[in-house]
Amino acid sequence: MRKDDCIFCKIANGEIPSRTVYEDDKFRAVLDLGPATDGHTLILPKDHADNLFDLPEDYAKALIPTAQKIASKMKDNLKCDGLNLVQNNGEVAGQTVMHFHLHLIPRYENDGQRIGWKPGSRSDEEFEAIRKNIVG
Ligand code: AMP
Ligand code: ZN
Repeated sequence: MRKDDCIFCKIANGEIPSRTVYEDDKFRAVLDLGPATDGHTLILPKDHADNLFDLPEDYAKALIPTAQKIASKMKDNLKCDGLNLVQNNGEVAGQTVMHFHLHLIPRYENDGQRIGWKPGSRSDEEFEAIRKNIVG
């Protein structure tokens, strides 16, 4: 379902112009307005979902095959040397637009970008408590 006040709903459904690189019945993929690298693309579902937690299963199932198609094109045509998939859920995780989107960020030798986190450490006991907590 489309959400009236959502800019990515409007972009995904072609109601406002975008730099589309791929489209099918479920998704539109568009160039990011503030690209990390040349070809930085966002895959947007045409139905609104805030984030991964409420992305319908049929969209979730179709997402990676779609990402793979676009990624292959990037490898062949942009000649990128690598590619990051990035997907932020919630403000605390860096999500700024509250309509699910998967970033495809082509990477090039010496592109000057850095995508990552600060590695931490945990004791065996801490790992085990966390593992059990996730399993539930
Ligand atoms: P995130 O931080 O994961 O929510 O990423 C939001 C992304 O959307 C950022 O990389 C923005 O540059 C991008 N963005 C915001 N508005 C637009 C727009 N109108 N068209 C294309 N990309 C956009
Ligand atoms: Zn939306």
